[in-house]
Amino acid sequence: MPSPVPTSLSAKNELPSSPFSLYLAPWVVPISSPVIRDGAVAVSNGRILAVGSSSSIQAQFAGARVKNCQGVLLPGLVNAHIHLELSAYHHVPHPSPDETFCDWIRSLLQLRQEGGIEPEDMARAARNMLQQQHDAGVLLLLDIGNILPSPPATIASSVQVSFLLELLGPTAKAEEQVLARIASLSDSVAATPHAPYSTTPGIMTSLKQRADRLQHIFSLHVAESADEIELLQSGRGCFRSFLEERGGWENIFPSPGMDGRGAVEYLEQLGLLDANLLCVHCVHVSEKEVQMLAAQGCKVCLCPGSNRFLGVGVAPLELMLAHHLLPALGTDSIASNEELDLWREMQILREDHPGVAPAAVMAMATLGGAQAMGCEEEFGTLSPGRKAILLNVDSPSLQGVDNGEQLLDTLTSGGRPENIRWIVEA
Ligand SMILES: [Zn+2]
Repeated sequence: MPSPVPTSLSAKNELPSSPFSLYLAPWVVPISSPVIRDGAVAVSNGRILAVGSSSSIQAQFAGARVKNCQGVLLPGLVNAHIHLELSAYHHVPHPSPDETFCDWIRSLLQLRQEGGIEPEDMARAARNMLQQQHDAGVLLLLDIGNILPSPPATIASSVQVSFLLELLGPTAKAEEQVLARIASLSDSVAATPHAPYSTTPGIMTSLKQRADRLQHIFSLHVAESADEIELLQSGRGCFRSFLEERGGWENIFPSPGMDGRGAVEYLEQLGLLDANLLCVHCVHVSEKEVQMLAAQGCKVCLCPGSNRFLGVGVAPLELMLAHHLLPALGTDSIASNEELDLWREMQILREDHPGVAPAAVMAMATLGGAQAMGCEEEFGTLSPGRKAILLNVDSPSLQGVDNGEQLLDTLTSGGRPENIRWIVEA
């Protein structure tokens, strides 16, 4: 792992036999507690032992190795929704104002079906994207793809990737084929459905049962566009035309009892709402649906850059936070976003939701993602017991900052910091 440690050893405090290392920085952002000015993180054996003010931690761990860092220490970021296999598809055009979400899907499918991108170029683009994520401060990624990726050993990056094989099928015939494929999958492959509009209830419930048995995340695109809700409620709109032209229309929509209801209510009818469900996008959800998601402990991932690119609207983040849902953040793929940069996603979120506290946005990009991926006991905060992987960022814009609120405001609204380094204690 490339982990340039921005430190200088403080010889007077160093005892070679000490099992502890203290990382000191002008600012520590634990996420699980308020920002600490002149803070420190004590680590040993690859785990965080304590976080606090520099003076208290140095008193507690007298004799430990002391390493001074510039700028800010914080947990690694989490990108909870990306499609690495689409990393070579950066030339899918923005939908124009008179085009629909379905037009964008048509453009992407046309490019994929035309071929023209060699498998090795696709794999190279995916590896480059993974490296870019690491360099930008992303520690965990939830990657969704239709093709099983290269074994992780071939990927030269230390980002920790969880991969979900995405399956879909809108007709009875497709369902038969997909169920046969599911039955033949190795238990080492985690699989998940694409979206309610593209995947039959039979495929979704089969994948949910399998995800519960194998104890992995069940993630799907939910309520991304108004067109999706129109299809579920009325069986009409651009998705119907899209499915008809591809031979995928069998009148399964509207589902009985869907009058006036949304995509989350549809999933609830299918018995899919629980703490293992990760709903990605949730742009077009009602307050009742937000309450249902919160009550069932479901996870949500917002992709504000992708939503802006596709012009599908803005998710009701204020409502989610008011109902004690802390969404994760995702970039989605380069086919539906200008850049895949979590710092930019935070910036867009701040622009779209000026009333949301910067601390909440920072928590989404770290703890929210770790919770969505079910690994908040290991990652997502700088707190005792978590892995000793620290992100160290610095930027000239942080020089004038003089309190924690200003620091979080600058970190979440200023885009990617100039200096991003990893500190990894094995
Ligand atoms: Zn996606």
